[in-house]
Amino acid sequence: MNPFTMPLTSLPRLFIHPYVNRKWIDLYRNRQLHRLVTHAYNNVPYYRRLFSKAGVKPDDIRTVEDLKALPITSKKDIQQLAPKEIVSRGVNPGNLIVRKTSGSSGESMIIRRTWFEERLLQALNYRAMYSFGLRMRDRRASMVLVREIHPNDNQILLRIANMFGLNRRLLLDPRQPIENMLKVLMEFRPDILGGYPGVLSQVAERSVELNCRGIRPRLILTGGEVLTPHMRKQISESFSAPVFNMYSSHEYNLIAWECMQTGDFHINDDGLIVEVIQNGKPVKEGERGEIVGTNLHSFAMPFIRYRLGDIVTKGSSACRCGKPYATIRSIQGRMLDYFLLPGGRMLHPYEITTRIRNIAVRWIRQYQLLQERKDRIIMRVIPFDNFPSRKLTEIENKISLIVGKDVEFRIILVSTIESEETAKFRVSRSLVKSEYDNIDWHHLSHMQTKNSTKKEY
Ligand SMILES: [Zn+2]
Repeated sequence: MNPFTMPLTSLPRLFIHPYVNRKWIDLYRNRQLHRLVTHAYNNVPYYRRLFSKAGVKPDDIRTVEDLKALPITSKKDIQQLAPKEIVSRGVNPGNLIVRKTSGSSGESMIIRRTWFEERLLQALNYRAMYSFGLRMRDRRASMVLVREIHPNDNQILLRIANMFGLNRRLLLDPRQPIENMLKVLMEFRPDILGGYPGVLSQVAERSVELNCRGIRPRLILTGGEVLTPHMRKQISESFSAPVFNMYSSHEYNLIAWECMQTGDFHINDDGLIVEVIQNGKPVKEGERGEIVGTNLHSFAMPFIRYRLGDIVTKGSSACRCGKPYATIRSIQGRMLDYFLLPGGRMLHPYEITTRIRNIAVRWIRQYQLLQERKDRIIMRVIPFDNFPSRKLTEIENKISLIVGKDVEFRIILVSTIESEETAKFRVSRSLVKSEYDNIDWHHLSHMQTKNSTKKEY
């Protein structure tokens, strides 16, 4: 079978998987993995070299358990390679859909896929949205950074769907003024609202202030950054609709989506193989580790045992809700988002923001954490008018206990907070270059493990 048109034949099967016994998914994964590894060994020079160096032949990799025999690949291993090293023979690189990603710390990556592969990954995304209640005739508004459509990314299917009033989608650039977005949303009357939590949270707040009654989505889907419990509650209450989280990356598209019953995340098991690893070894359920993923549907430019750079807490091998997916218990976020403190300690800004939640709700309009140096973190705060100055000291003292004696923590009151170019309204960023190869896992695994994304209401 031609691996580049194979997605077409896989589709019907993938839409049956949510309803079948897990063993069928395991069989599918093993077979697809063997195909992928054989294909990469025979057609992609980078993987040929990598496997040969490790002394592994494709026939050694027949099941997901065999995968550990293969070396792990990092972004820095492949981001500088010429296309002929990492793109499969038999495809014309000029026909592929090319996506250039720019990470928040400047590390970029070029991802190439065939048109079929792109559609298949998108279909898996729809499958998850369908499980949340998306229907064909729904009107969907998304506040995400609008990407230009690549010339090879033919939109014919979308145009046909739109002709029949299906899959109607409005994309809103989140860099425009909030009031503009609200005006457009009131006209569009979306059934489903989506976007980065930071943007949605600001839109939600303003819509309450301006009493925009016209926006009544049935469902809100977030993604792209960590959704804090505070944001979830605020967004949900403002629009009177449930909020669910989806977890994706450019390399894999959908990785996992929230289980509506348990709050854990269903892993997109037939789309990719997720390993959660700490110091090269798989972690146990409930432990934290970094995600190493194998995309089962990218043959033009394979990602096999590829380090994503995200930290998650491993969940169970089957979700308690009865669906045939393994789970991620919680997503701690990108490794690069962590603050690297003196002595190699790692602190996720979330550890700080959760502790000021109660104060923030009443006194703070918006805030942003900035690690200026290893030993200095500042919090910019736009206060509500009635912000009492004694709260400043209260917050500073509270946070100083968390960041430790060797780190200075200061609050600065401001009237505006500028958002970054990427349009993700990040609540935190660090100017300290954190090299995640040097993570102090011992410290990390002893941090309080709690679910950062579980529903609170
Ligand atoms: Zn579930």
